[in-house]
Parts: sequence; structure tokens; C-alpha cells
Amino acid sequence: MKVTKKEFKEKFEKRLQDRFAISIEDASSTELYETLGKVIKSYYSSDWKHTRQDYLNHEQKQVYYFSIEFLPGRMLKSNLLNLGMLEMVQEALVEWNIDLEDLVQEEPDMALGNGGLGRLASCFMDSLASIGMPGNGNGIRYEYGLFKQKFVDGYQVELPDEWLNQRNIWEVRRESKAVDVHFGGNVYLKESPTGQLKPVYEGGYSIKAIPYDTGMTGYENDTVNTMRLWSAEVTEEDKINFQNFEDRKELENLTSVLYPDDSNEAGLRFRLSQEYFFVSAGMQSILHYYKSLGLPMTEMNKFIAIHINDTHPAMCVPELMRLLVDEEGMAWEKAWDVTTKVMSYTNHTIMSEALEKWKISLMKEVCPRIYQIIKEIDRRFVEEWSHVFDPELIERTRIIRNKQVHMAHLAIIGTHSINGVAKLHSDLLKSVVLKDFYTIYPDRFNNKTNGIAQRRWSQISNPLLSSTLDKYIGKSWRKNADDLKLLLNHADDKKVYADLAKVKKENKKRLAQYIKETKGIEVSPDAIFDVQVKRLHAYKRQLMNLMHIIKLYLDIKENPDLDITPRVFIFGAKAAPSYHFAKSVIKLINETANLINNDASINGKLKVVFLENYNVSLAELIIPAADVSEQISLASKEASGTSNMKFMLNGAVTMATLDGANIEIRDVVGDDNIKIFGLTEAEVYRYYNEQNYNSADIYNNNPVIHRVVNAFIDGTIPNSRMEGQEIYDSLIKYNDEFFILRDFMSYCEAQESLDADYKDKARWGKMSLTNIAHAGHFSADNTVRKYAEDIWQIEPVRKG
Ligand SMILES: *Cc1c(COP(=O)(O)O)cnc(C)c1O
Repeated sequence: MKVTKKEFKEKFEKRLQDRFAISIEDASSTELYETLGKVIKSYYSSDWKHTRQDYLNHEQKQVYYFSIEFLPGRMLKSNLLNLGMLEMVQEALVEWNIDLEDLVQEEPDMALGNGGLGRLASCFMDSLASIGMPGNGNGIRYEYGLFKQKFVDGYQVELPDEWLNQRNIWEVRRESKAVDVHFGGNVYLKESPTGQLKPVYEGGYSIKAIPYDTGMTGYENDTVNTMRLWSAEVTEEDKINFQNFEDRKELENLTSVLYPDDSNEAGLRFRLSQEYFFVSAGMQSILHYYKSLGLPMTEMNKFIAIHINDTHPAMCVPELMRLLVDEEGMAWEKAWDVTTKVMSYTNHTIMSEALEKWKISLMKEVCPRIYQIIKEIDRRFVEEWSHVFDPELIERTRIIRNKQVHMAHLAIIGTHSINGVAKLHSDLLKSVVLKDFYTIYPDRFNNKTNGIAQRRWSQISNPLLSSTLDKYIGKSWRKNADDLKLLLNHADDKKVYADLAKVKKENKKRLAQYIKETKGIEVSPDAIFDVQVKRLHAYKRQLMNLMHIIKLYLDIKENPDLDITPRVFIFGAKAAPSYHFAKSVIKLINETANLINNDASINGKLKVVFLENYNVSLAELIIPAADVSEQISLASKEASGTSNMKFMLNGAVTMATLDGANIEIRDVVGDDNIKIFGLTEAEVYRYYNEQNYNSADIYNNNPVIHRVVNAFIDGTIPNSRMEGQEIYDSLIKYNDEFFILRDFMSYCEAQESLDADYKDKARWGKMSLTNIAHAGHFSADNTVRKYAEDIWQIEPVRKG
């Protein structure tokens, strides 16, 4: 679409006047933002309509991506960029003395997710549209997104995220597409006059599910897909049906909050109800659509693919069975054949506490018919395989075991494809975590390494880098990230290094400004910006990073002339509100920061900054300013990681364990352009098998480690006696679950080597350039293409 500046300005002024009856000069940022949003929407609304019609007219196979979390962040600039209007609008606003950035700040982050899982879903939404693939999102419209984090006295405090207080300008409420979702009551089967068994429902409640659709614009290709988020509403007439007030309240509030925890199953009826709610609503609406095509039910898999992002939407399997068997009268075997062909599943973690299980009693209470269907799936699974494989293996792989429903088992048995999210992770699924299933279904397992929305993490977050790249390699990389490789033609060009360094410095200044404004801390853009931003979790080992900082501090105190490049350590991380250990780590980082930042004797060689409320928008500010990307999880624990990819694209050098996608980053950039340290996954597993890890031995025998660990309990870090003791105990008394002491010296050596590399401008320039040049490998456009070919069998849209 080509819109001229003149057309835009006229439309904008007219909208502003129609809506607020004011002129540009009198309008507030909020009014200007809302007007701009409306204008943008008016530019893509006809493409949105046409995209939907094209899919319908061509009976295109579509994928529906079910995810309990989406984390899109802000949409104003990405929509402008995708519509090819970003620069024009920037200029037009400047002519009115308006800075686009001021309007951007008016948009609340859409934070309907915790971290990597939800962010991946949003990156996929962006890429699906941008490569013109028919793909839809299906999730929950939480009224409160992930909590807002504040620090009080160094402690994390959680505040509600009232993002809907300002109207969400992007969504469209579609009352006419509402469906009812049924909960609770009793169900029994009764023979119908035709001899079929039909479920009879007694009692229970229905809840109205209202879809809110958001257009997902593709990059300069006139495609606009849909992300559909469901909201629960209880109508006045429904209200009388509730037997008690608590049940009513619970269901009324079903879509009010996002669980602020991305790893533990929140063992609550509420969460299970949320899962069934968005699954059932989504599946019903897909079936409505499919029926409108008038095609045979048995061929649904030729037109519909459904993707289960982690286990939370695994009830898609029994829900489709329910719709096909109960509602459409299909025979079980036929329905099962269609269902497994339609469904596919991504596993996101090997952390056992995150493998979702639900008590049978709870599931019976929340969705009794679904439980019956799962029981039947389980029965047939055992019947089919127990003569083929060791009965014990089949017992271990059943869906229903020990009075619990195992959601991962359901997701594997009920789908035709199971993928991990990085090579190592997918291998571990086959060899360890899901080994029994791999024995039964070897063909179902595959790998799809995660990717990132390359445009958001370069063009939107780093315009300076983008224009520098244009200068040397042209603009094709903006559409096709693989073309970043053209930068390798300049791999030895010192002029390019200098230009890239200049960009980095500007981005560091921008971040330093933000740090000054929000934290009152002065940091020098000449220091190394060493960054770790991600959820706070023991396995991600923010604690090891902190220990390295403490070591440097003690070293400088002892030897004030120590020759190290000044460093600014930057953290961003939310801890789950109930995660005690993680909150103690936050407190300790904050107290260490206070100590170090206020110690004049170290001459500003170290600074520590913990930025509050890490989210997508903050990531867009931080990542372009990073020199060092901390990706230091214990090998085998981080399924993939995606911030590692964002940093790489922005020219940071990765400090990495051989974990998740770090391994693949190393493979593409080469050992010279990444800092690898620590145990390998095989070594970690050897410790597990031999059960011979002993952290106290390391502590007792290594004076460096002894000294750093003691800092937690000897008063070195002020105001944190309890937290310090707790961390000390986790390392020494409870044997250091994530092998921090084992990896610590290796980590420090890698950091020293990095310091030396940084001092050598040419060396660093080449490392940074090489990382950027290879980042296209991790574009989600590529990842999604592989899903489309191997798993979903969908193709780009035919237009017209
Ligand atoms: C990319 C991203 C993540 C994922 O970070 P990892 O380091 O891969 O865990 C989490 N939160 C936000 C806001 C992100 O943008």
C-alpha cells in the first residue's frame, strides 16, 4: 500500500477532529496516539477483510496456533513498519512538531505472557503474516497482564498490570462470533434412537466466550492475519443458573488474570478452567468455520492444522474428539484419525516440575465429558500398544497414571508431530525425557529451533544499526534476514567496525540516559555493557553472574590498580511472586548494586543496574545497547532461549554455556566469535548418573570460590542477612542444584578472555560483525517456514 504524506495528514486531522473536536496543537499525546491507531487500522482493515476472504475462497489450509500466552509488546511501530509507513508518518508528525516516540509511550505493552513461550508465539504471529502464511493465533484476553514489577528496599513488589484501562485500540470485539463453553455438572451416556451413545448433561454452567480479534499485519505484503483472544462473560440470564456465588465469581473472573509463573503448574481449578475455556472456545469457532466450507468432516486435516504450544492447550485433542463424536456423530476411529492428523505439539521444557499434570478429581469436576474422553483415549492406547511393547513401558506412558492426567502424554498420543525447540533439546526429548514415547512413535519426533521476529529486534529496536547495514549491504536483509550474510564481504573492514561501534555507542548512550532517569545511576557508555535479561530462575543462574560481580569487586578492593575495562552489569528479570529463592536473588543483586555503585574507592570500574519491570519494550531499549549477552544456564536446562538470538542480531558477543540454541549460535559464528565455558550436557548427566557432585568440596578446596560464597554470609553485602544465608545454603548445604560452583572458575576465565578481546578493537569489531552477519539463521521467518512445510503443510496465500 502506498499512502502519501498528504493523504495521511488529511486523514489524521479529520479523525482527530471527528473524535475529539480539537486541532493538532491542542491534542494530548493520548488523543494523538488514539487517533494515529485508528488511522493505521483504517489503512489495514480492507486487507484484513481480503485476507480472510482469500483464505475462504481458496479453501486454503490454515494453521491455528493455540497458546495460553502471547507477548506482543507494543504494536504501533510494528504496524507502521509492516505497512511501509513508518518513515512517512515520522516525518509527517515532525511537521506538526510531534515526536512519534512520545506517542509510542502511550501504548501499554500487551503483556499477556511470562517470557520466552509467549514471546515465541508472538514472533510466530509476526512471521506467519510476513511470509504470507494463513495462520491464526488463539489465546486468552487477560484483563490483567503480567504484574508490574517495582523494587521497594531492594525487594520485588508486584502491582497489577491494568493495561485495559486505556482502551486497546487494536482489538475488535466480535459479539456475533461468541460461543458457549460448558463447565461442570454430571455427564452420562445414553443410547439414542439410532443406537449411538450420546452424552446427557446434568447441571453445570455455561459461560459466554467473546472473541476479540487483533489484526496481525505482514511485512509489506498486504496480508493481515488474526490473533483471536477470548474473554469470559456471564450474562444476566446465566447468572440465575449458578448454584452458589463462589462458582459464579470464579467463572466471571476466568479471564481476568494471567498466571505469573511460566514453569510451575499452578495446581488450581482456576487454571484448568482457563485452559478448557480457550481450548473449547477456539475449537468450536474453528469447527463453525470448517462447517461453513461444506466439506466432509473426515477431510478436516486437509484444511485445518492445530498447533498446541506447550501442554496448556493439550485439551484440544479431547475437545475435537468431543465435537466430532458427540456433536457431529462421527465414529470414534474416524474421529481419532482426523484429530491426530490435525494436531501437532511443541514441547518447551525438560524441567520436570513444568510437565503439567492434573488430578483426576479436579478434571472430572471442571470438564467431566473431557475427562471421559481422555479415559477412553487412554484405554485404547493401552489396548493398541501393550501387546507390541513392554507392558511396563506402556504403563509409564499412559495418560492417566497415579490418579493424575499427564498433559504431555495426552499431547503426544493425540498428535502427529512433537517438536523440541533447539537441536540439543530435541535430542534430550528423544534420549531422556520422552524416551519411552520415542520408542513407540519415532516418526513423530522432530526439531524446530526457535527464531525471533527479526524486524522487531532490528528495524524497530535498532534503527541506527539498520541504516548502517543498508549503507553497506543494501536493503534486502530487511525482508530476507539471510542476506545479513552480505556483511561478511566486509568482515575485515575496519571502517565497518568503526561504524558499528559508533551505532553501539549511541544505543548505549540512549540506555544510559534511561538508567539515569529511572535509577539515578550514572553509567559510562565507554564501559562494557554486560547484560542478562530474562525471567529470574535458578537454572538461568543470575546468581553466577552476581558471584562474578562480587569476585571482581573483591579483586578491585584488594588491588585498586587492577587492569580491567570498566563494566556496567545490567539485569532485567521478574520473579514469579511465589518463587522465594528467585526473589532472594533479586534482593541480593539490588543490595550488591547499592554497595558497588556507592563505593568511590573502585573508581567507577564497576556499576550494577537492575532495571525494573522487564518487558518487551524494555528489551527493545536494552538489547541494542548490549556488548555482552549473558546466556549462562546450566547445560541441558534452557530448551532454546530466544534472547540469545536477539542480542546476536544486535551485535553483542555471547557469553554462553553449551545449552539450548547457544550451541547452534556457536555452530554458525564459530568458536572465535562466542565465549563458551562450563560443563557440557553430557558432563551434567554424568554427575546425575554417578551422583557424585559435591559442592562443599569445591567450596572447601577453592579459595577464590570460598571467598566469594562467604560474601553472602559475612556481612560484605549489606541488608541481606537472611537472603544471603539462604543463598549460601542453596550452594553449600543443598549441594548447588545447578552446578554454579562447578562452572564458576571456567566462567571467570571466559570473562577475562572477553575483557582482553574487548580491548582489541579490531578483534571485537570482527566478533560483533560476525554475530550480526549470521543472525538471519535465527529469523522466525525461517523457523515458521519449516513448521509450515514439515508439520502443518500450509502454503503461502493465493490472492484474488
Ligand atoms: C525474548 C524475551 C524473553 C525470553 O528470554 P530468554 O532469555 O530466552 O529466556 C523473555 N521476556 C521478554 C520480554 C523477551 O523479549
